[in-house]
Amino acid sequence: MIYKQREMTGELRLLHALDRRLTLSPKDRKNYLHLLKGLKGERRFDKLLNNLKCDHIQIHDLLLEHNGTVFQIDTLLITKEKVFVYEVKNYQGEFFFDQERFFKVPRQEIMNPLHQIGRSAPALTQLLRKHGYNLPIQFHVVFVNPEFTLFHAEQNTPIILPTQISDHLRMLNGFGSKLNQTHKHLAEKLIELHLKESPYQNRPEYEYDEVKKGVVCGGCGLMAVEVKGRKVYCKHCNWVENLNTATVGLIKEYQLLFPDKKVTVSAIDDWCDSLISLKSISRILGQHFTRKGNLRWSYYE
Ligand SMILES: [Zn+2]
Repeated sequence: MIYKQREMTGELRLLHALDRRLTLSPKDRKNYLHLLKGLKGERRFDKLLNNLKCDHIQIHDLLLEHNGTVFQIDTLLITKEKVFVYEVKNYQGEFFFDQERFFKVPRQEIMNPLHQIGRSAPALTQLLRKHGYNLPIQFHVVFVNPEFTLFHAEQNTPIILPTQISDHLRMLNGFGSKLNQTHKHLAEKLIELHLKESPYQNRPEYEYDEVKKGVVCGGCGLMAVEVKGRKVYCKHCNWVENLNTATVGLIKEYQLLFPDKKVTVSAIDDWCDSLISLKSISRILGQHFTRKGNLRWSYYE
């Protein structure tokens, strides 16, 4: 059972929206593609876990804090006997460890994923103990990309290679018995402790004037959208969307990209490049957002 679905993180949502409206700097673009690839890998692992036969709870993308340490968990699996924590990596190509360091062939150093668990393992263990949960916790780095090769892999590390995933899932399926209330409370507690925003989120720099205005197609991501009646059509990929849903998405995107700007009818008119009528914007704002301020200077949240 999935208690918390995987979604794009705040940082990825921001980069994704920006990428459609301006040219990202090479550094932001690299980060964007890296995060997207990571998400793809995590989804690949989610799919595999969905085939588990044993009673379990899956929690995705947890951001937790204990004694000043903020740590992120890609996948947490609660089974009858143990909690499994996975750091999911979608690396592709040939890699190796040298002493405590991790490299891509020929010798490009990458953050050692074992160090990431080294940081989160004690913090999570203490956090769960603090809340009265004493289930054993097992931490793994799982490499999900079938095109990943690891040279000089030592045995007895918590690494799961692509060729070992099936065996690992079979082992999990060995935990047959039913979960009880304690397991469910543990899952609820973790979700309650989840932080919404990462304090370490990178925020690219951009100005309102640099960002292209218009409506982005929900299908192909291009700005090739036309409004006809209460529908939005894409001339490029034939995507059709309800005007209400598209406008709510457009306004949320504006709030995400410009959290300091006030949402008003004229701000959204400018944001969509006047593609949606003032009447529709006003109606949709009234239906889906809360009106603030006095009559003349009203805005929406
Ligand atoms: Zn399209």
